[in-house]
Amino acid sequence: MIKELWLSGNIIQYDLQRKKVKNINLRIKSDGTIYVSANKQVSQKVIEEFLISKSKFILNALEKYKTASKAPLKQYFTEDEIRFVITKLCKEVYPYFEKRGVKHFAIKFRRMVSMWGSCNPTKGILTFNTALMFAPIECVEYVVLHEFTHFLQANHSSKFYEELALVCPKWKVYRERLKKINIR
Ligand SMILES: [Zn+2]
Repeated sequence: MIKELWLSGNIIQYDLQRKKVKNINLRIKSDGTIYVSANKQVSQKVIEEFLISKSKFILNALEKYKTASKAPLKQYFTEDEIRFVITKLCKEVYPYFEKRGVKHFAIKFRRMVSMWGSCNPTKGILTFNTALMFAPIECVEYVVLHEFTHFLQANHSSKFYEELALVCPKWKVYRERLKKINIR
């Protein structure tokens, strides 16, 4: 299960796996993917405290792997363009979500290293990574629909993916394509 956490001003994503392990295990792959495994009994709070206690190690590792990757990025949009494109896409998809009960939304842009977007359903705020300028338009659309779908399901449950598939049937293809774009 993909989880997010603030670490010293950075949002990091990690893959939490519940396993029969004694303690909490932390593993960071060279592509920057963070794996955490913990016993079912260990609460989310304890896991987050553990990760916070390791924040220096985690951020150093991410920084190291970032400089290690040399694959050149293809830039599809300028920063101004990507803001414009995302704003336009949001306006285009909003009628559907409005019908589904989404009362309002606001858009924010930030440069982030470990996620393409986020959604705060309570505040009605969608945040998009300006690094989406390095992603093709289909993937940008996917991120917009993904974040909007969080207004309906504020998690990554199977229900979330069912909802997402209604508006973006090829979401898996775009998610995989995005994974290959290294913006760290
Ligand atoms: Zn999500």
